[in-house]
Amino acid sequence: MTLEVDVLIVGSGPAGLSTAMHLVGDHGFAAERVVVLEKARHPRPKLCGGGISGFARRALGRLNLPWPLPLPQTPVPTTHFTYQGDTVTLTNPNRVFTVFARPAFDAYLAEQARRRGVRLHEEEPLLRLSPAAGGWQAQTPRGRYQAKVVVAADGSRGTLRNWVISRRHHATARVLESITPSDGRLVRERVAFFDFTPVRQHLQGYLWTFPLYDGRSTACNQGVYDARVARRAAKAPLPSLLHAAFPHSQKPQGHPIHLFSPFQRLARPGLLLVGDAAGADPLFGEGIGPALAYGEVAAQTIAAAFRRRDFRLRDYRRRVLLSSLGRYLLLRWAVAWLGYRLAPHRLPMAMIWGFAHFLAFVANAITARRKSHAHSADQ
Ligand SMILES: Cc1cc2nc3c(=O)[nH]c(=O)nc-3n(C[C@H](O)[C@H](O)[C@H](O)COP(=O)(O)OP(=O)(O)OC[C@H]3O[C@@H](n4cnc5c(N)ncnc54)[C@H](O)[C@@H]3O)c2cc1C
Repeated sequence: MTLEVDVLIVGSGPAGLSTAMHLVGDHGFAAERVVVLEKARHPRPKLCGGGISGFARRALGRLNLPWPLPLPQTPVPTTHFTYQGDTVTLTNPNRVFTVFARPAFDAYLAEQARRRGVRLHEEEPLLRLSPAAGGWQAQTPRGRYQAKVVVAADGSRGTLRNWVISRRHHATARVLESITPSDGRLVRERVAFFDFTPVRQHLQGYLWTFPLYDGRSTACNQGVYDARVARRAAKAPLPSLLHAAFPHSQKPQGHPIHLFSPFQRLARPGLLLVGDAAGADPLFGEGIGPALAYGEVAAQTIAAAFRRRDFRLRDYRRRVLLSSLGRYLLLRWAVAWLGYRLAPHRLPMAMIWGFAHFLAFVANAITARRKSHAHSADQ
């Protein structure tokens, strides 16, 4: 049997669920005409630091989700950035970065999507996609779908972006993560660490330590991120860097992150990319906030396509680049592109680090000023 739908979304991470919720909630798509396919079942395992930035928080707000989310979480008002023993500290109690256990975060989004009527078909992987008259035909183990528009939200390991971006243009970061049970000190102290020292050893990224609390136990989430924006440069030895920095961490797991580039295509007729399939932030590998925001722009683009009855989706890339998401990603891409190329050299890195000190000084001064204004207003 073939089920006819308007939009078929493949993948129910933040990108796919955000697209579905915006289509149904903001653009009046009939819930039964939008189907999300998910090969796993929530809460599904997902390798991720679970760090939610201010950008992600604003994207959650535009989905009309409450803040704080009703889930176990660790707000992190203090972040230390280190390079060769020199630390830049950012402290802001109001604009905290918050860490969630990723499986629970995604399961919460899935539940919210379901409550809004979105049809989420779990344990139903897309097996095959082929162009068909008036759109696409999709095959799963349970049946066939005919869709006018397909949204590729299948993440960094997904294959749907190959329909849009040729393999040799894929920019992919390497990431290793290790979750080690801890006594909860980091969770109590509410701090996170980013260490850029290994840029001297060809790492185009950083080592991180985040606190993790999933409602039952506390742990340290430690890992290493390597953007590989300079693809021809020597590769950093990630396992040994991780082991040298965190000798007591548990066996790490690896996962790629597909990165954003402003030169990359994001759509072809009837098919558009969102979330990691389109590309995450190359500077930090932040992908949750961008995934939520891609969903919003994708939904606007799809709604416009249905109004015009023109499914070529030619305006999607322009819409992304001109949106707040585009500005966010372009800035991160430019800093990563230049910064990680210059970072192995002593003088440019000293200048970059000096600038980081200056930015942190200004940001902390603004925070302190706001705090003292709020304090005097209270009295
Ligand atoms: C180690 C690590 C740490 C990270 N830490 C952070 C962090 O702290 N903060 C942050 O913002 N970002 C972080 N990221 C990035 C973040 O995890 C991703 O950017 C984010 O998950 C992207 O969301 P998505 O919806 O595009 O994809 P995903 O969340 O990967 O979702 C894709 C979904 O598609 C499903 N799927 C795949 N193929 C199929 C198929 N054929 N049929 C049906 N379903 C399919 C998968 O099961 C999955 O549920 C980290 C990434 C890694 C690897």
